[in-house]
Amino acid sequence: MFDWLIIGAGFAGSVLADRLARVRNERVLIVDRRNHIGGNAYDRFDDAGVLMHQYGPHIFHTNAQSIVDYLAQFTEWRPYEHRVLAHVDDALLPIPINRTTVNRLYGLSLDSDEAVEAFFNERAETPAEIRTSEDVVVGRVGRDLYEKFFRGYTRKQWGLDPSQLDKSVTARVPVRTNTDDRYFNDTFQCMPKLGYTRMFEKMLDHPNIKVMLQTDFADVRRGISYKRMIFTGPIDEYFDHRFGKLPYRSLRFEHKTLDMPQFQPVAVVNYPQNEPFTRITEYKHLTGQEHAKTSITYEHPSADGDPYYPIPKPENAELFKRYEKLAQATPNVWFVGRLATYRYYNMDQVVGQALSTFQKIDAALGTGTKRARAIMQAS
Ligand code: FAD
Ligand code: UDP
Repeated sequence: MFDWLIIGAGFAGSVLADRLARVRNERVLIVDRRNHIGGNAYDRFDDAGVLMHQYGPHIFHTNAQSIVDYLAQFTEWRPYEHRVLAHVDDALLPIPINRTTVNRLYGLSLDSDEAVEAFFNERAETPAEIRTSEDVVVGRVGRDLYEKFFRGYTRKQWGLDPSQLDKSVTARVPVRTNTDDRYFNDTFQCMPKLGYTRMFEKMLDHPNIKVMLQTDFADVRRGISYKRMIFTGPIDEYFDHRFGKLPYRSLRFEHKTLDMPQFQPVAVVNYPQNEPFTRITEYKHLTGQEHAKTSITYEHPSADGDPYYPIPKPENAELFKRYEKLAQATPNVWFVGRLATYRYYNMDQVVGQALSTFQKIDAALGTGTKRARAIMQAS
């Protein structure tokens, strides 16, 4: 008899397995349909011995010290600041758009924040309302930069024009007037020193936690005895798609190993123009690994395949709300994570969501935290 059945061994499922086992001293069975733990953050050494990310580049960044401290129980960190170049008109230019991007693209020598701000202001359009992913960018930098850096990339990535997507999607990428060319603004940017999979192994290494891989929810839904459940798969799948399928965007990852030490100057080069893929990642920049060969991944967006991205559009949010109501009326099951809460969350946000779910569970079921403290004090 397990206290908990957890579906999915990604961040959401693994954080909850850790807390339920270590703080509440409860017995957890965590299952995943894949043949590995870690969810989309899974990394592995490929046949050439290069550490790579099976599901595309995962860079940890957050402003929340509490989340860093929590994960630091399971990993040391390698400081890494992410920088991305975009392949535009045969040049490699920094993205997020910043002063260097503008100067190099247009052959200018703007030398202050004010000059770049004025450059943007002269070109920015003023949509009546900033509602879509197009509005956000043309409202800030104007149409030419929007078309060069955002329109094509977004159409490929989402199969939708930016004017059909919620503003929150392109608003993820900042625009800067200075020369800061880091991809993220967060105070904490780093990689788990020995990789994500090693970190997950430590999280799940506890006598109260049993891991079953290559096991689908459908395989264990009935045959196994458990009291409560955490579900981190797609929420519509849990309810047998009864209101119709929630759209998730997928990707096909084309992995290659090349017989050269370095392929490109930075970890990620974006291709916002005519190429059929969106970006190429070279992992050694992320991991710091030294190796005579290098491994890279092309990302080809697609409608079919594993669900990776909830698609932020009003009608999808409406459909999700109908499933969410069902979820709220389902006793003893908690829905957590990117797929189960249909949110375009980064890793740190999923860790935060899982930790706060744990606090709610602990409060609702009573005093696991107090019990753990008492055990620690007695020993
Ligand atoms: P997942 O990692 O998707 O885990 C869910 C698990 O549940 C999966 O392993 C799945 O196999 C399993 N599962 C689902 N249904 C079932 C079922 N029926 N039965 C059994 N198992 C099931 N975030 C960042 O912070 N930084 C980044 O740089 C970054 N890069 C990304 C790049 C890409 C290409 C993608 C797709 C995402 C990226 N993310 C990044 C987001 C990050 O992957 C997620 O925030 C995080 O992995 C979500 O964790 P999760 O546990 O909610 O979901
Ligand atoms: N985007 C773009 N061009 C770029 C980078 C991003 O058009 O060079 C858009 C695209 O729609 C993308 C969104 O901005 O999906 C958010 O980018 P981010 O890098 O945050 O996406 P992630 O890969 O993390 O999902």
